[in-house]
Amino acid sequence: MSAMIYPTSNFADQQKLCFERAEGVYIFDSDDKKYLEGMSGLWCTALGYGNQELIDAISEQLQTLSFSHLFGGKSHAPAEELASKIAAMVPITDAHVFFGNSGSDANDTHYKMLRYYFNAIGKPEKRKIITRQRAYHGVTVASGSLTSLPVNLAHFDAPLDALHILRTDAPHYYSGHQVGESETQFVDRILGNLERQILQEGADTIAAMIIEPITGASGVIVPPEGYYQKLQALLRKHDILIWADEVITGFGRTGNDFGCTTMGIKPDLMTFAKQLSSAYYPISASVIPGFMYDAMIEQTNASGVFGHGYTYSGHPVACAAALKTLEIFERDNIFEKAAKAGDYLNQKLATLEAHPLIGEIRGAGLLAAIELVANKEQEIHFKDAKVGAFAQKSCENHGLIVRAVAGNSIALCPPLIISNEQIDEIIEKLTKALDDTLAFAQQQKLLLP
Ligand code: PLP
Repeated sequence: MSAMIYPTSNFADQQKLCFERAEGVYIFDSDDKKYLEGMSGLWCTALGYGNQELIDAISEQLQTLSFSHLFGGKSHAPAEELASKIAAMVPITDAHVFFGNSGSDANDTHYKMLRYYFNAIGKPEKRKIITRQRAYHGVTVASGSLTSLPVNLAHFDAPLDALHILRTDAPHYYSGHQVGESETQFVDRILGNLERQILQEGADTIAAMIIEPITGASGVIVPPEGYYQKLQALLRKHDILIWADEVITGFGRTGNDFGCTTMGIKPDLMTFAKQLSSAYYPISASVIPGFMYDAMIEQTNASGVFGHGYTYSGHPVACAAALKTLEIFERDNIFEKAAKAGDYLNQKLATLEAHPLIGEIRGAGLLAAIELVANKEQEIHFKDAKVGAFAQKSCENHGLIVRAVAGNSIALCPPLIISNEQIDEIIEKLTKALDDTLAFAQQQKLLLP
């Protein structure tokens, strides 16, 4: 038995697929079997593996200044440059950027920053955060509580009450609509629920609502047309800030620079990680608007410091990796190319629509999922996650890495540099795996008449 405690894993299952090397969009296991990496690792390796420019930028930074921190009057050029670069890219006025090391800690930073801000402006009671069912925002104490997936909450005794977290409906029409309900009726019903909750709690007790513009771990939920427009109007009416968690959707993933652009969201706060450095070095960014930053200045002055920071906030090597990643995104028109590749992927996925196991195909850009169901016509879900797990394993047998999320949704999130030929390869391998999975489901009598 390994000495390691594996993250997000079943301790009773010690069977592991061990990877040894990778190049471009391909990754090789310890037996040198080749896989197409259809998940960009964990939704993060935007520029693929072995990018020499990134390796050189990181090596150079290691040789020049391998570490320097940003606490109490210290700074360095890579962090300053990266903060300016991100501030210029985001759709937030006079943006200010706080660096961390992971999506989870970036969301914790925002959680704390919101309290700090509302205390600074004399509204300490405005502290509750609305999150959605099925959301995934990380696993630290605050971000893990903003996450709504049962497996991330069960047994951890998350201090939900102390954290003042409110939950509202997931905007997934396919799994959440009532019989005969149209998309518009669905949106109006769930936003009606939200408004009732806001009125019941008191809008003056609610600081913000956190949203993934398109979700990842909960099965790549793309909310229906009109949802975000109406949601934003509702939140603005009640003076509740909009906090976009772009940890997956940021930087070209959904066919545009940000998920907010794809979905027509005007955020107040944004969180980034993953593709910010193409996963060559851990780094995250929590972005706030100028009005929040300005309001906090006097409070930090009175206390002596803003008492929040990580040893590795703005690690110079991580900043160098992120700066080079953003430079390549821009110089090589990666977002435009990824948008075209995303169109191609979605066209190809649509050809699988008639497959008896597929209930819904959804996504935007190079982010997609296919949901496997027990009865396609009647939209009946499997009662457990066995079929999704089998499909993931079967894809691996055929040399394709995918991820079964939220039970039986098979997620795809290939590197942004993927070619059309490689997308064809994904579809070919996925089709074989789906056929194997259908045979398994039939043999196990898991399909419902
Ligand atoms: N937010 C979203 C939307 C995510 O998908 C994730 C991770 O997948 C996180 C936050 C947490 O990021 P990390 O695993 O880097 O802590």
